[in-house]
Amino acid sequence: MKIGIASQTYVKKLGLEAGLKRMKADGYDCIDYDALANTETPVFHCSETEFASAMKHIRTCAEDCGLQIWQTHGPWRWPIQDATPENRAERFEKMTRAILGTALLGCRFFVIHPIMPFGEVDTDPAFTWDINLDFMTRLAGFAAGHGVTVCLENMPFRQQSIATPEECLRLVREIHSPSLKMCLDTGHCILRGVQPGGAVRLLGRDMLAALHVHDNDGTRDLHQYPFSGVMDWGDFCKALQEIGFDGAMSLEAELEEGREAELYQTAVRLAGNVVQA
Ligand SMILES: [Zn+2]
Repeated sequence: MKIGIASQTYVKKLGLEAGLKRMKADGYDCIDYDALANTETPVFHCSETEFASAMKHIRTCAEDCGLQIWQTHGPWRWPIQDATPENRAERFEKMTRAILGTALLGCRFFVIHPIMPFGEVDTDPAFTWDINLDFMTRLAGFAAGHGVTVCLENMPFRQQSIATPEECLRLVREIHSPSLKMCLDTGHCILRGVQPGGAVRLLGRDMLAALHVHDNDGTRDLHQYPFSGVMDWGDFCKALQEIGFDGAMSLEAELEEGREAELYQTAVRLAGNVVQA
């Protein structure tokens, strides 16, 4: 099983080339290219030609290091700004650029969060549902034209109507597009009282396209190392094996200085429990 990690974990501190080199040296096979989450960067404010050459540079750097860009993370900002039609149109435009970027990076899986028009506290679930149905249908249609699969990620927020794996899956099933699947975030799962093993079985091989692997204490989204929180990792691996998961064990834990090798080893330990066909 391929083992990956969010790119910014290394790149934020070391820069692109040195960061990716170090990532490879630490043992990783693939990247979750998460820099497209931040839309305040130059790549979202330049011409299409400049954008394409920036993506090509990133792809070449990864290839030169022997790293595959397995998944990307789409636009996300905090505080959330999805309240007005203008906000959502702006998000859609940024997301389409990030999908083009994903294709240019030679990557198939594009992970995004649901649209949250009321922020963290969803006061009108019917409206939220309609907005997401429309937004994700159009986004999946756009992605299909570029060979990209949009992966909707489950969220940690307790007062959100589209957050648990089950709620996200309901939306994905309703849209019913071969270009719309799911990303299971293990830490977010547990914050909504769902063990990730159960969520893996619920989604099954057809719907589970990508992973964000990290742990927490069951109350805060701490993005801790696997095996340091309350998650049932044994059952998670058992479930991945049962459904025949064929994706990457991609980490989304906060790197602790001097404990890089330890983090990689947690992923090796998890992947070692899942035999892929
Ligand atoms: Zn995540």
